[in-house]
Amino acid sequence: MPLLLLVLLIVASKLIDRVLLPIKTLTKSAKNISIHNFQRKIDMPKASSEIIDLIDSFNTMIERIQEGVANLDRFNSDLSHELKTPLTVIRGKIEVALKKNREAKEYKEALESVLKQTMQLEAIINNLLLLSRYTKENIASTFRLCTFDTILLNCIEKFDSMLEEKNITLHIEPLEHIQSYSNQVLLEAIFNNLIDNAIKYSTKNSNIYISLYQKNGINFTIKDEGIGIAKEELSKITNRFYRVDKSRNKLIEGFGLGLAIVKNSIDLLGGEFKIESKLNSGTKIYIKFL
Ligand code: ADP
Repeated sequence: MPLLLLVLLIVASKLIDRVLLPIKTLTKSAKNISIHNFQRKIDMPKASSEIIDLIDSFNTMIERIQEGVANLDRFNSDLSHELKTPLTVIRGKIEVALKKNREAKEYKEALESVLKQTMQLEAIINNLLLLSRYTKENIASTFRLCTFDTILLNCIEKFDSMLEEKNITLHIEPLEHIQSYSNQVLLEAIFNNLIDNAIKYSTKNSNIYISLYQKNGINFTIKDEGIGIAKEELSKITNRFYRVDKSRNKLIEGFGLGLAIVKNSIDLLGGEFKIESKLNSGTKIYIKFL
Protein backbone atom coordinates (compact mmCIF):
# COMPACT_ATOMS: atom_id res chain seq x y z
CA MET A 1 0.00 0.00 0.00
CA PRO A 2 2.68 2.61 0.95
CA LEU A 3 4.69 1.57 -2.12
CA LEU A 4 1.62 2.03 -4.35
CA LEU A 5 0.99 5.40 -2.75
CA LEU A 6 4.59 6.43 -3.42
CA VAL A 7 4.37 5.36 -7.06
CA LEU A 8 1.09 7.24 -7.41
CA LEU A 9 2.64 10.35 -5.86
CA ILE A 10 5.63 10.22 -8.24
CA VAL A 11 3.35 9.75 -11.27
CA ALA A 12 1.06 12.57 -10.10
CA SER A 13 4.01 14.90 -9.54
CA LYS A 14 5.38 14.12 -13.06
CA LEU A 15 1.93 14.78 -14.54
CA ILE A 16 1.57 18.08 -12.70
CA ASP A 17 5.06 19.06 -13.87
CA ARG A 18 4.06 18.31 -17.47
CA VAL A 19 0.85 20.32 -17.15
CA LEU A 20 2.64 23.24 -15.54
CA LEU A 21 5.59 23.26 -17.95
CA PRO A 22 3.93 25.53 -20.55
CA ILE A 23 2.90 27.94 -17.78
CA LYS A 24 6.46 27.98 -16.46
CA THR A 25 7.74 28.62 -20.01
CA LEU A 26 5.17 31.41 -20.42
CA THR A 27 6.23 33.03 -17.13
CA LYS A 28 9.92 32.78 -18.07
CA SER A 29 9.30 34.28 -21.52
CA ALA A 30 7.17 37.10 -20.08
CA LYS A 31 10.03 37.95 -17.68
CA ASN A 32 12.49 38.08 -20.59
CA ILE A 33 10.42 40.56 -22.60
CA SER A 34 11.40 44.19 -22.28
CA ILE A 35 10.89 47.35 -24.34
CA HIS A 36 14.25 46.62 -26.01
CA ASN A 37 13.60 42.96 -26.57
CA PHE A 38 10.37 42.12 -28.30
CA GLN A 39 11.92 39.49 -30.50
CA ARG A 40 11.12 36.59 -28.19
CA LYS A 41 7.96 34.69 -28.94
CA ILE A 42 6.79 31.74 -26.90
CA ASP A 43 7.13 28.29 -28.43
CA MET A 44 3.88 26.36 -28.66
CA PRO A 45 3.78 23.23 -26.50
CA LYS A 46 3.71 20.06 -28.61
CA ALA A 47 0.62 18.48 -27.11
CA SER A 48 -2.56 20.41 -27.72
CA SER A 49 -3.92 22.00 -24.56
CA GLU A 50 -5.96 25.00 -23.37
CA ILE A 51 -2.66 26.73 -22.78
CA ILE A 52 -2.18 26.96 -26.56
CA ASP A 53 -4.93 29.63 -26.73
CA LEU A 54 -3.26 31.63 -23.99
CA ILE A 55 0.18 31.41 -25.66
CA ASP A 56 -1.38 32.30 -29.01
CA SER A 57 -3.00 35.45 -27.56
CA PHE A 58 0.26 36.29 -25.84
CA ASN A 59 2.20 35.96 -29.11
CA THR A 60 -0.39 38.10 -30.95
CA MET A 61 -0.02 40.74 -28.24
CA ILE A 62 3.78 40.66 -28.61
CA GLU A 63 3.39 41.10 -32.37
CA ARG A 64 1.11 44.12 -31.89
CA ILE A 65 3.49 45.74 -29.41
CA GLN A 66 6.41 44.97 -31.73
CA GLU A 67 4.55 46.77 -34.53
CA GLY A 68 3.78 49.71 -32.24
CA VAL A 69 7.41 50.08 -31.17
CA ALA A 70 8.57 49.88 -34.82
CA ASN A 71 6.04 52.60 -35.75
CA LEU A 72 7.26 54.76 -32.90
CA ASP A 73 10.89 54.31 -34.01
CA ARG A 74 9.98 55.25 -37.57
CA PHE A 75 7.98 58.24 -36.33
CA ASN A 76 10.92 59.44 -34.20
CA SER A 77 13.35 59.23 -37.09
CA ASP A 78 10.91 60.97 -39.50
CA LEU A 79 10.23 63.68 -36.94
CA SER A 80 13.94 64.24 -36.30
CA HIS A 81 14.50 64.52 -40.05
CA GLU A 82 11.60 66.98 -40.53
CA LEU A 83 12.80 69.16 -37.65
CA LYS A 84 16.44 68.97 -38.64
CA THR A 85 15.94 70.27 -42.19
CA PRO A 86 14.57 73.73 -41.26
CA LEU A 87 17.02 73.98 -38.36
CA THR A 88 19.96 73.30 -40.70
CA VAL A 89 18.71 76.00 -43.09
CA ILE A 90 18.27 78.49 -40.21
CA ARG A 91 21.77 77.80 -38.91
CA GLY A 92 23.28 78.08 -42.41
CA LYS A 93 21.55 81.41 -43.12
CA ILE A 94 22.63 82.89 -39.78
CA GLU A 95 26.25 81.70 -40.17
CA VAL A 96 26.52 83.16 -43.67
CA ALA A 97 24.93 86.46 -42.57
CA LEU A 98 27.39 86.78 -39.65
CA LYS A 99 30.53 85.96 -41.64
CA LYS A 100 31.15 89.58 -42.65
CA ASN A 101 29.48 92.98 -42.59
CA ARG A 102 26.61 93.05 -45.06
CA GLU A 103 24.12 95.42 -46.63
CA ALA A 104 20.78 95.89 -44.86
CA LYS A 105 19.09 94.23 -47.84
CA GLU A 106 21.10 91.02 -47.32
CA TYR A 107 20.26 90.91 -43.59
CA LYS A 108 16.59 91.40 -44.49
CA GLU A 109 16.72 88.48 -46.94
CA ALA A 110 18.41 86.24 -44.35
CA LEU A 111 15.83 87.16 -41.70
CA GLU A 112 12.97 86.51 -44.12
CA SER A 113 14.33 83.06 -44.85
CA VAL A 114 14.79 82.34 -41.13
CA LEU A 115 11.21 83.51 -40.49
CA LYS A 116 9.88 81.14 -43.17
CA GLN A 117 11.72 78.15 -41.70
CA THR A 118 10.61 79.08 -38.17
CA MET A 119 7.00 79.18 -39.35
CA GLN A 120 7.49 75.74 -40.85
CA LEU A 121 8.83 74.40 -37.55
CA GLU A 122 5.89 75.98 -35.75
CA ALA A 123 3.41 74.38 -38.18
CA ILE A 124 4.95 70.91 -37.69
CA ILE A 125 4.80 71.26 -33.91
CA ASN A 126 1.22 72.60 -33.97
CA ASN A 127 0.14 69.66 -36.15
CA LEU A 128 1.83 67.17 -33.83
CA LEU A 129 0.20 68.78 -30.82
CA LEU A 130 -3.17 68.52 -32.54
CA LEU A 131 -2.51 64.82 -33.16
CA SER A 132 -1.88 64.15 -29.49
CA ARG A 133 -4.28 66.66 -27.86
CA TYR A 134 -7.44 64.59 -28.21
CA THR A 135 -7.74 60.92 -27.37
CA LYS A 136 -10.51 58.33 -27.35
CA GLU A 137 -10.76 58.92 -23.59
CA ASN A 138 -11.19 62.72 -23.60
CA ILE A 139 -12.91 63.40 -26.93
CA ALA A 140 -16.53 62.98 -25.75
CA SER A 141 -16.12 65.71 -23.12
CA THR A 142 -15.08 68.21 -25.84
CA PHE A 143 -18.23 67.81 -27.95
CA ARG A 144 -20.33 70.96 -28.46
CA LEU A 145 -23.17 71.78 -30.84
CA CYS A 146 -21.46 72.50 -34.18
CA THR A 147 -22.95 74.08 -37.29
CA PHE A 148 -21.17 72.10 -39.97
CA ASP A 149 -22.06 74.34 -42.94
CA THR A 150 -20.86 77.52 -41.20
CA ILE A 151 -17.60 75.84 -40.11
CA LEU A 152 -17.02 74.61 -43.68
CA LEU A 153 -17.75 78.01 -45.25
CA ASN A 154 -15.39 79.76 -42.80
CA CYS A 155 -12.65 77.29 -43.75
CA ILE A 156 -13.24 77.77 -47.48
CA GLU A 157 -12.98 81.55 -47.10
CA LYS A 158 -9.33 81.24 -46.02
CA PHE A 159 -8.43 79.67 -49.36
CA ASP A 160 -9.77 82.50 -51.57
CA SER A 161 -6.37 83.75 -52.66
CA MET A 162 -4.99 80.24 -53.33
CA LEU A 163 -8.02 79.47 -55.51
CA GLU A 164 -7.67 82.76 -57.36
CA GLU A 165 -3.94 82.24 -57.92
CA LYS A 166 -4.59 78.93 -59.73
CA ASN A 167 -7.85 80.05 -61.27
CA ILE A 168 -9.68 77.11 -59.72
CA THR A 169 -13.48 77.16 -59.62
CA LEU A 170 -15.05 75.85 -56.44
CA HIS A 171 -18.50 74.25 -56.65
CA ILE A 172 -20.32 73.70 -53.34
CA GLU A 173 -23.40 71.60 -54.01
CA PRO A 174 -25.36 70.54 -52.01
CA LEU A 175 -24.58 72.53 -48.87
CA GLU A 176 -27.17 71.60 -46.27
CA HIS A 177 -27.64 73.35 -42.94
CA ILE A 178 -26.45 70.71 -40.44
CA GLN A 179 -26.12 70.94 -36.68
CA SER A 180 -24.70 68.15 -34.58
CA TYR A 181 -22.55 67.56 -31.50
CA SER A 182 -18.89 67.35 -32.48
CA ASN A 183 -15.45 68.86 -31.92
CA GLN A 184 -15.05 72.10 -33.90
CA VAL A 185 -11.22 72.11 -33.79
CA LEU A 186 -11.06 68.67 -35.39
CA LEU A 187 -13.76 69.50 -37.96
CA GLU A 188 -11.78 72.57 -38.99
CA ALA A 189 -8.60 70.50 -39.22
CA ILE A 190 -10.36 67.99 -41.49
CA PHE A 191 -11.88 70.63 -43.81
CA ASN A 192 -8.72 72.78 -43.91
CA ASN A 193 -6.38 69.91 -44.74
CA LEU A 194 -8.62 68.42 -47.42
CA ILE A 195 -9.33 71.76 -49.11
CA ASP A 196 -5.63 72.66 -48.91
CA ASN A 197 -4.64 69.34 -50.54
CA ALA A 198 -7.31 69.60 -53.24
CA ILE A 199 -5.97 73.03 -54.24
CA LYS A 200 -2.26 72.17 -53.82
CA TYR A 201 -2.46 69.05 -55.98
CA SER A 202 -4.78 70.58 -58.62
CA THR A 203 -3.70 71.91 -61.94
CA LYS A 204 -4.43 75.50 -62.97
CA ASN A 205 -7.88 76.35 -64.41
CA SER A 206 -9.54 73.23 -62.95
CA ASN A 207 -12.58 72.58 -60.74
CA ILE A 208 -13.05 71.41 -57.16
CA TYR A 209 -16.41 69.99 -56.08
CA ILE A 210 -17.49 70.00 -52.43
CA SER A 211 -20.71 68.66 -50.92
CA LEU A 212 -22.16 68.53 -47.41
CA TYR A 213 -25.43 66.72 -46.82
CA GLN A 214 -27.30 64.42 -44.46
CA LYS A 215 -28.02 60.83 -45.50
CA ASN A 216 -27.55 58.02 -42.97
CA GLY A 217 -25.15 60.36 -41.15
CA ILE A 218 -23.37 63.58 -42.09
CA ASN A 219 -21.60 63.30 -45.44
CA PHE A 220 -18.78 65.46 -46.74
CA THR A 221 -17.14 64.92 -50.12
CA ILE A 222 -14.38 66.76 -51.94
CA LYS A 223 -13.30 66.02 -55.50
CA ASP A 224 -10.50 67.57 -57.51
CA GLU A 225 -9.19 67.23 -61.06
CA GLY A 226 -5.55 67.25 -59.96
CA ILE A 227 -2.50 65.04 -60.27
CA GLY A 228 -4.10 62.07 -58.46
CA ILE A 229 -2.46 59.31 -56.42
CA ALA A 230 -1.24 55.92 -57.68
CA LYS A 231 -3.22 52.90 -56.40
CA GLU A 232 -0.26 51.39 -54.52
CA GLU A 233 0.23 54.63 -52.55
CA LEU A 234 -3.33 54.89 -51.25
CA SER A 235 -2.78 52.69 -48.20
CA LYS A 236 0.22 54.76 -47.07
CA ILE A 237 -0.87 58.37 -47.50
CA THR A 238 -2.48 58.60 -44.06
CA ASN A 239 0.80 57.62 -42.33
CA ARG A 240 2.52 60.44 -40.48
CA PHE A 241 5.14 62.25 -42.59
CA TYR A 242 4.36 60.16 -45.66
CA ARG A 243 4.51 62.08 -48.93
CA VAL A 244 3.95 60.42 -52.28
CA ASP A 245 7.13 60.48 -54.36
CA LYS A 246 9.12 63.29 -52.76
CA SER A 247 10.46 64.48 -56.13
CA ARG A 248 6.92 64.93 -57.47
CA ASN A 249 6.07 66.97 -54.41
CA LYS A 250 9.26 69.02 -54.27
CA LEU A 251 7.59 72.19 -55.48
CA ILE A 252 4.44 71.67 -53.42
CA GLU A 253 4.79 72.61 -49.78
CA GLY A 254 3.86 70.15 -47.06
CA PHE A 255 5.32 67.65 -44.64
CA GLY A 256 2.96 64.70 -44.86
CA LEU A 257 0.89 65.31 -41.74
CA GLY A 258 -2.36 66.56 -43.30
CA LEU A 259 -4.03 63.25 -44.07
CA ALA A 260 -2.72 61.68 -40.85
CA ILE A 261 -4.57 64.44 -38.99
CA VAL A 262 -7.70 63.95 -41.11
CA LYS A 263 -7.75 60.17 -40.51
CA ASN A 264 -6.99 60.51 -36.80
CA SER A 265 -9.72 63.17 -36.37
CA ILE A 266 -12.33 61.05 -38.17
CA ASP A 267 -11.46 58.05 -36.00
CA LEU A 268 -11.91 60.21 -32.89
CA LEU A 269 -15.17 61.80 -34.04
CA GLY A 270 -16.57 58.46 -35.13
CA GLY A 271 -16.76 58.31 -38.90
CA GLU A 272 -15.61 56.71 -42.12
CA PHE A 273 -12.95 57.89 -44.55
CA LYS A 274 -12.75 56.70 -48.14
CA ILE A 275 -10.49 57.84 -50.94
CA GLU A 276 -10.66 57.18 -54.68
CA SER A 277 -7.98 58.47 -56.95
CA LYS A 278 -6.60 58.09 -60.44
CA LEU A 279 -3.17 59.27 -61.44
CA ASN A 280 -3.30 62.45 -63.59
CA SER A 281 -7.06 62.48 -63.36
CA GLY A 282 -8.08 63.50 -59.84
CA THR A 283 -8.99 62.49 -56.32
CA LYS A 284 -12.30 62.11 -54.50
CA ILE A 285 -12.56 61.84 -50.72
CA TYR A 286 -15.71 60.74 -48.90
CA ILE A 287 -16.28 61.27 -45.20
CA LYS A 288 -19.28 60.08 -43.26
CA PHE A 289 -19.77 61.13 -39.64
CA LEU A 290 -21.94 58.53 -37.96
P1 ADP B 1 1.25 66.90 -47.56
O1 ADP B 1 1.71 67.86 -46.55
O2 ADP B 1 2.40 66.27 -48.32
O3 ADP B 1 0.20 67.44 -48.48
P2 ADP B 1 -0.75 64.98 -46.64
O4 ADP B 1 -0.69 64.06 -45.48
O5 ADP B 1 -1.86 65.96 -46.66
O6 ADP B 1 0.66 65.67 -46.71
O7 ADP B 1 -0.84 64.10 -47.96
C1 ADP B 1 0.04 62.99 -48.11
C2 ADP B 1 0.36 62.81 -49.57
O8 ADP B 1 -0.82 62.37 -50.27
C3 ADP B 1 0.78 64.08 -50.27
O9 ADP B 1 2.17 64.24 -50.19
C4 ADP B 1 0.31 63.89 -51.70
O10 ADP B 1 1.30 63.24 -52.48
C5 ADP B 1 -0.88 62.96 -51.57
N1 ADP B 1 -2.16 63.69 -51.69
C6 ADP B 1 -2.97 64.10 -50.70
N2 ADP B 1 -4.08 64.70 -51.17
C7 ADP B 1 -3.98 64.67 -52.52
C8 ADP B 1 -4.80 65.13 -53.61
N3 ADP B 1 -5.98 65.73 -53.39
N4 ADP B 1 -4.36 64.91 -54.88
C9 ADP B 1 -3.17 64.28 -55.09
N5 ADP B 1 -2.35 63.83 -54.13
C10 ADP B 1 -2.75 64.02 -52.85
